[in-house]
Amino acid sequence: MHDFLYKNNNLYCENLKVQDLAVRFGTPLHIYSYNTLTNHFIKLRKAFSAIDPLICYSVKANSNLSILKALVEKGAGLDIVSGGELFRAIKAGCPAKKIVYASVGKTEAEIATAISKGILFFNVESLPELRSIDRIARRLGKITRVAIRINPDVEAKTHKFITTGKITNKFGIDLNSAYKILLLRDEFKNVSICGLHIHIGSQITESAPFVAAIKKVSAFIKKLESKGIKLEYLNIGGGLGIVYDSETPQTAQVYADEITPLLKDTGLKIIMEPGRFIVGNAGILVTKVLYIKHTPKKKFIIVDGGMNDLIRPALYGAHHNILTLRKSSTKSEKADVVGPICESGDFLAKERKIACVKEGDYLAVMSSGAYGFSMSSNYNSRLRAAEVMVSKNKVRVIRKRETYADLIRNESNG
Ligand SMILES: *Cc1c(COP(=O)(O)O)cnc(C)c1O
Repeated sequence: MHDFLYKNNNLYCENLKVQDLAVRFGTPLHIYSYNTLTNHFIKLRKAFSAIDPLICYSVKANSNLSILKALVEKGAGLDIVSGGELFRAIKAGCPAKKIVYASVGKTEAEIATAISKGILFFNVESLPELRSIDRIARRLGKITRVAIRINPDVEAKTHKFITTGKITNKFGIDLNSAYKILLLRDEFKNVSICGLHIHIGSQITESAPFVAAIKKVSAFIKKLESKGIKLEYLNIGGGLGIVYDSETPQTAQVYADEITPLLKDTGLKIIMEPGRFIVGNAGILVTKVLYIKHTPKKKFIIVDGGMNDLIRPALYGAHHNILTLRKSSTKSEKADVVGPICESGDFLAKERKIACVKEGDYLAVMSSGAYGFSMSSNYNSRLRAAEVMVSKNKVRVIRKRETYADLIRNESNG
């Protein structure tokens, strides 16, 4: 499932010892496995080979150019949510015809650039946005394609911050409104409505919510067909859950077995937008123990990586396994693993049984490849960490550690 394994009691990323990488590149350090990354993509493509979908990797999960390039080289398209991600996608060599663009708040400038580049389509999230795209396309003398993002009102059974397909969420358009928009489609002279899109949330560990959502849109597609409205694409979004700890998410194969018949039945070309599934377990964050602090109530392991490097525990109460780089036979103790940032929310683990480490030891925060670096910040004027990519016995820096000069690059001193 991933290539971070102990060999002779030392943690390795593929053929390289993580300890050596930490010493060589410093910490905090994001380490990715090329093999894990690309294998996840290939595994998904294989599971769905019967319908040959366009798999658009969701850039926001991890937007490093080298990660994008590795996937684009394997045939992936990209799912973007901003002009910045469009810029990255083009830089990484993704053909525009393999780019789909979702977001409830696309600006005029972002829409104009995406039309000019000739992306496959926009996932439209409201009627005013559709009007805006139509107007901008007219100004540019183009006809552009859109899919309507449906809010299917299903419960994704995941953390409330990462559920997106309930009718109270800001995403997508309810079925009734979508139907009305489709009846008006001839009014939008510079837009061709070519498909439907759903994305119901993230870290979804069972197939049932996906099945429920796909059934709802399938019925809708049938209704549209009966009214003479023909579509070309169904974009089923991302959201596949991964193992962080003791979850037992559906495998790609089980997911495929459950939904392939439903998808085939639509007769449409299928697009999917996995992010976390592809990159989540392909990355770890290595951090160094600075101090061990005992208070009357607690033991704190204070490390040099913080919520600015990995915000998921603070933001979602997310669980990441934490391993020592040398498989430890010493006893373990309950401790909070915390960063140096001036916030009580700055923790990587709470009340966690963890091997008795000492100052200068390293810890590996597992499964941090998705929504790790891409959500990182400079809070507390901390430098964003370096990222390296390992492939077999080779390692490459794919993002240099920031410097203090980077920190103030765009500021004035007056
Ligand atoms: C975030 C997002 C995804 C990817 O979600 P994962 O849970 O990482 O697979 C896909 N599509 C859209 C529209 C998104 O916003």
